[in-house]
Amino acid sequence: MASNPDQARLCVLGSIIMDMVVPVPRFARPGETVLAGSPRRHPGGKGANQAVAAARLGAAASLIGTVGDDADGRAMMAAIAGEGVDVIGVAVDNAEPTGTAVVSVAPGGENSILASAAANLRLTPERVRACRGVIGAADVLLMQLEVPLGAVVEAARLAREAGTAVVLNAAPVPEAGNGGVGGVPAELLAMTDVLIVNESEAAAIAGPVQDLNQGLARLAGYGPRVVIATLGERGVRYSVDRGVASEVEAFAVEAVDSTGAGDAFVAAFAVRWAEHQAAQALDAMGILDAVCWGAAAGALATRTAGAMPAMPRRGEVVGMLRRTDGG
Ligand code: ADP
Repeated sequence: MASNPDQARLCVLGSIIMDMVVPVPRFARPGETVLAGSPRRHPGGKGANQAVAAARLGAAASLIGTVGDDADGRAMMAAIAGEGVDVIGVAVDNAEPTGTAVVSVAPGGENSILASAAANLRLTPERVRACRGVIGAADVLLMQLEVPLGAVVEAARLAREAGTAVVLNAAPVPEAGNGGVGGVPAELLAMTDVLIVNESEAAAIAGPVQDLNQGLARLAGYGPRVVIATLGERGVRYSVDRGVASEVEAFAVEAVDSTGAGDAFVAAFAVRWAEHQAAQALDAMGILDAVCWGAAAGALATRTAGAMPAMPRRGEVVGMLRRTDGG
């Protein structure tokens, strides 16, 4: 991994999933066989997507996760490492195959997804502890919730110990039956510096509220310094230090596929946060700038089909931000 002293150092902990995309004339009903078109395999999973996005955006990125001891696992490792992501924290597990998702896509673009986390469920707190050095060397630890909560909580703890900032993309929201705050452990929120959710995740975690602002305030009450809700083509709303919520409009683009917009947003925000943190510029302007980077990257990701292939490069994000600055 090429790295220079000014480069943001991002450690991503999360899922690694091989997506198998199959075109179908319509979705199968129970008991029915539908003849489908040729399957295509794409590396995916929120962890892998966000790590690749961070590398494309210029960060020194590393990934912590688990794959199976199989051809998909080796293909995923090669694809991720080929993007310049350090995969020293990716364990190969003998007990479970690499995570797989079967994505049926009907004419018109509607999809139906069967996801099997498989080896991703083998990311244990012990394996996370083996990556203590990787977490401690990063400016920011970025996580999502497609891997076991115990691993995420352990990583957050190690990050806090080391002074590494914790950015949590609480997606997908765990079953509320697990307790905590809408299924997210309260101790995890208390160790989180920045919480990023989309609108439905915000509603699921915050519970019944009058409006989004009240939801943001409730989530901030559990500890995160910054709470961000991404609102698709309506942009972003966020609050800092429990203050009044601010908004950033979405960038106008010709969207063809919104898959991956959330992953691009989260990665770009985290990279820029790390850069401002290193420059001791995490004031209101620095945070707004990181949100704008996220919004630009999210918008760019909607212009290309798929998730990982749609992750934008640094130059594209800078170009989009300049265009709207008029500069
Ligand atoms: P998720 O995929 O997690 O639901 P969103 O759809 O909210 O996430 O997208 C994340 C961000 O990407 C949005 O806040 C927005 O800034 C940007 N974005 C998403 N869809 C569009 C769009 N159609 N046009 C412009 N920007 C978009």
